Amino acid sequence: MPQPDLLRRSLASVWHPCTQMKRHETLPPIAIVRGEGAWLIDADSRRLLDGISSWWVNLFGHCNPRINAALREQLDTLEHVLLAGFTHEPVVALSERLAALTGHRLGHAFYASDGASATEIALKMSAHYWRNHGQPGKHRFLSLAGGYHGETVGALAVTDVAIFRDAYADLVKPGTTVPCPDARLAEPGETPADVARRAAAALEAHLAEHHAETAALIVEPLVQGAAGMVMYDPEYLRLARALCDRYRVHLVADEIAVGCGRTGTFFACEQAHVWPDFLCLSKGISGGYLPLSLVLSTDDIYAAFYADDTARGFLHSHSYTGNPLACRAALATLDIFAEDGVLAANRSRAARLGEAMEEGFGGHPAVRHLRSRGMILAFDVAGAGADFGRRFFAAALEHGVLLRPIGNTVYFMPPYVVDEAEIAHLMRGARAALDAALA
Ligand SMILES: *Cc1c(COP(=O)(O)O)cnc(C)c1O
Repeated sequence: MPQPDLLRRSLASVWHPCTQMKRHETLPPIAIVRGEGAWLIDADSRRLLDGISSWWVNLFGHCNPRINAALREQLDTLEHVLLAGFTHEPVVALSERLAALTGHRLGHAFYASDGASATEIALKMSAHYWRNHGQPGKHRFLSLAGGYHGETVGALAVTDVAIFRDAYADLVKPGTTVPCPDARLAEPGETPADVARRAAAALEAHLAEHHAETAALIVEPLVQGAAGMVMYDPEYLRLARALCDRYRVHLVADEIAVGCGRTGTFFACEQAHVWPDFLCLSKGISGGYLPLSLVLSTDDIYAAFYADDTARGFLHSHSYTGNPLACRAALATLDIFAEDGVLAANRSRAARLGEAMEEGFGGHPAVRHLRSRGMILAFDVAGAGADFGRRFFAAALEHGVLLRPIGNTVYFMPPYVVDEAEIAHLMRGARAALDAALA
């Protein structure tokens, strides 16, 4: 297919996400025609290593033969059926598997399609829980500074990223933000756990005063993705769990980005040995194949809605709730985790990525705060200058690498299939891009 024609048609008809469309006058979108493992292949047969898993969704490579086979079989069996009043094998099996992964602590799965919808569901369920318990005044939400939980009007209430929120401020009923335990905020002599304790003290001060009107605290466990891969100590989650228990406030773990093994454990919360009241998953759960999100909740939450009265139920729905194809992709994804010992294999893969990042950037005069947690690696760039992200992105493409810095933070979040040679290619391309973007 001639690429110029496709690009002309695309620009005339497709409105791209998170994009000032006028920018495409100088840097047009790239037409991808094929995916193959960790690689994307464009219309000019150029190969790009997908260093960010296509916006953090892909786990086992593009066009993974095992997920493809599972989907083909499902396609010839049942493509979709409404989930109100009906059920089907893929949604049941997936719910059981996820419940088992939480040790049956979070045994009730509610489905939607996008991450932001999962956030909305968790917030609505939390407030509705308190209403069903005769405490309708508990309807306010707490989130961490810099937190990101999606961009629908409801999710923006707990999303603290100005560029996504400011234009819609009049539409949003904002929650309250409490300090983030960002490990980079350590004072001299402080450990990341000390920063976590400081942030938890601020959370406690807020809860002591406002617990009666607070329904839930929502956090991205261990790594705040959209804020620029902000990393913090698991101690914060332990303390936040204890404070939420003490003040009778729900803890919502938004594991949309950090779940499915990204931080080294299947759920990030496992590293703090705590469980939330609600856990949101999306992105990687379908292997990066199909839109699927879900909220897991406890028996206690579920029981609060179980009644003869219809209005006490959770009357929320999306047309594609529990779509069989998406659930089948998720089951195939969980099969790969189980059959291939993915979490163990990722420990050495993550260590290799960390060494390669250290080799490539450790001594660079502009690089600050090299950091990693599992399969997420990042560093900040001092003196990056205006438009650094776009210049870095464009330069990386020239070197066969897809990376999109957030502000002055360069990060790597590759699929769980990158091998030694691909890691070397990724870091070589990133280094060349950094030097070009700083030149
Ligand atoms: C991506 C993301 C969301 C929103 O998911 P969408 O599918 O883009 O709506 C919510 N929370 C976190 C932590 C995310 O990274």
